[in-house]
Amino acid sequence: SSDINAITVGSKEIVDQFPLCGQHAMYGLRTLHHLKYTARQQFTLFLKGIGLSLEDALTFWSGEFKSVSIDKFNKEYKYNIRHSYGLEGGRINYKPWDCRTILSKPRPQKGEYHGCPYRDLSSDSLARKLREMGLEEKDVQQILEISDKGDYTNACSRVLEVKTNGHVQEQVTHPNLYFDRMRQYTK
Ligand code: SF4
Repeated sequence: SSDINAITVGSKEIVDQFPLCGQHAMYGLRTLHHLKYTARQQFTLFLKGIGLSLEDALTFWSGEFKSVSIDKFNKEYKYNIRHSYGLEGGRINYKPWDCRTILSKPRPQKGEYHGCPYRDLSSDSLARKLREMGLEEKDVQQILEISDKGDYTNACSRVLEVKTNGHVQEQVTHPNLYFDRMRQYTK
C-alpha cells in the first residue's frame, strides 16, 4: 500500500501492526543501528511484503545503519537489499518468509534478531514484550503457556485475536498475513 514509505515504515502506528517477529527486528535495528545477515534477509523481505518499495527500502536501511558510512553501505549492504527485491544475481523475486521458513532457520544467537520471538525469547523477555504490546496480564500468561508448549504460531494467532478484540480468529502462518489482518482491522 502506498502509505508505506521510508518514513512511515518505522512509525509507531505501522510498527504496532507488525507481528512480534517484525517488532523485534525493528527493535534490534533501532538498538544496534545494524542487523546481521539472517535478520536483514527476514526483515527486508517482510518489509517488501508490506509494500515498501526498493527505493524506500534503501533510504530506510541506510538511514537506520547510522554507524555505517554511505560508502560502506553501498558496498556491503545495498547489493543484498537489491538482491532481495530480485534485481541482482539470479533475479529471483524472493517471497517474504512464512513462519515455517522462519522457524526452520538456525536460532538467533546473542545479538541476533531474526527468528520467532515466541520460540526464541526467554519467558521474562517475552512477557515484557507482550506487556509492551498492551496485553493484559491474563492474556500474557496464557500466551506464555502456549509458547511453552511449542505452539509458537498459535501463540501469535492468539495475540492477533486479542489485538483485534476477538475479531480476527485466524491461524497465523505468515508474518505478512498477521500484518494484513491487523491493517484491515485498524482501518
Ligand atoms: Fe512471526 Fe510467525 Fe513467529 Fe508470529 S508466529 S512472530 S508471524 S514467525
